[in-house]
Amino acid sequence: MSITVIGAGILGLYTVFELLEEGIDPKSINMVAQYIPGDQSPDYTSPYAGAYFSLTIGEESLPLSSYTYEKLEVLKSKLGDNCGLGKCWSTEYQHEPLEEDYLKKLSFANYEIVESSDPRIAHGVKYMAWVFNPPKFTQSIMKYVLDKGVSLEVKRLNHIKEINTPIIFNCSGNGAKKLGGVEDSTCYPVRGQVVVIRAPHINECVSFWSEDESTYIIKRPDSNTDECILGGFYQDNVGDMSTYGFETKDILERTSSIYPKILNGGTIDDLQILRVVAGLRPGRKDGPRIEVEKIETGHIIHNYGAEGSGYLFGLGMAHKAVKKFLEI
Ligand SMILES: Cc1cc2nc3c(=O)[nH]c(=O)nc-3n(C[C@H](O)[C@H](O)[C@H](O)COP(=O)(O)OP(=O)(O)OC[C@H]3O[C@@H](n4cnc5c(N)ncnc54)[C@H](O)[C@@H]3O)c2cc1C
Repeated sequence: MSITVIGAGILGLYTVFELLEEGIDPKSINMVAQYIPGDQSPDYTSPYAGAYFSLTIGEESLPLSSYTYEKLEVLKSKLGDNCGLGKCWSTEYQHEPLEEDYLKKLSFANYEIVESSDPRIAHGVKYMAWVFNPPKFTQSIMKYVLDKGVSLEVKRLNHIKEINTPIIFNCSGNGAKKLGGVEDSTCYPVRGQVVVIRAPHINECVSFWSEDESTYIIKRPDSNTDECILGGFYQDNVGDMSTYGFETKDILERTSSIYPKILNGGTIDDLQILRVVAGLRPGRKDGPRIEVEKIETGHIIHNYGAEGSGYLFGLGMAHKAVKKFLEI
């Protein structure tokens, strides 16, 4: 049976990988995407992610993140070294203590609780986390699936009717709002801005989440410029890819306050800033949509709306979407 996967962001790529893992013939899979790894556009979120793993986003998403956590080991073994996926220690600081029941569910990541003398922090969860170099990682998966025999068509679709296969996976991210036949009005962009610095002395991730603040330091793997990503912002319904100096200043102050080690004994002015970037996460009112829709010509399996977690939920989302297809 022929299958089309719309989208070559991390969700489309993970979906094709999961299809191959289920033994689907690569020659029966065609990817259709306006933007592919290597491209940059406000309509293509994946290159702009940090990106790191997180254990503490919320209980309802743990099946997605725990599946991804384990399956990334398999993906890495297939992609090989220098594929843009690595592991390093990560400490996620909490402003309120996490409940025992929730902590028990994190056992897959073999975490430990760490204390902090910072009065804003209740405790931290430290574990060996996955970290991603999004441009490199997406290119590595793209190469892997094309080498297997999957085909790719680079074009913009105006309507889902332009696809003539009986099975369509819709991994169109923010594009789901405008794509004819989908037109999901509950989708909205969630803007983020990050500062990329050169920091060879940093080998870990540190983050601090409170109700009104998301501050993170991400060691980027397989980067030949020793990159570290400092963030960030979550701005609902903001579709602006401009970057702002006052936000850069705020990010540098917050990250160096929570983790002074980035300063390496110097000041904020001494930091070697490589670039400042903004990106638009694919937000959706009710969270990710992983759902089968029957249409005249077959079925669409929707798999979009990952917002700020496409890398860390994505294999779990793709697995769920592919299982739904296998049940049709
Ligand atoms: C600043 C920032 C930091 C982030 N940090 C993290 C992090 O640390 N961890 C994490 O897990 N996630 C992070 N994210 C979120 C992550 O980047 C997204 O969840 C993920 O990239 C979404 O991927 P996607 O494949 O759904 O969408 P996209 O990457 O946008 O891909 C959509 C695809 O669909 C195609 N498409 C859409 N419409 C059409 C059409 N009409 N015709 C043809 N093709 C179409 C596009 O061309 C593209 O190929 C971050 C995001 C930002 C902006």
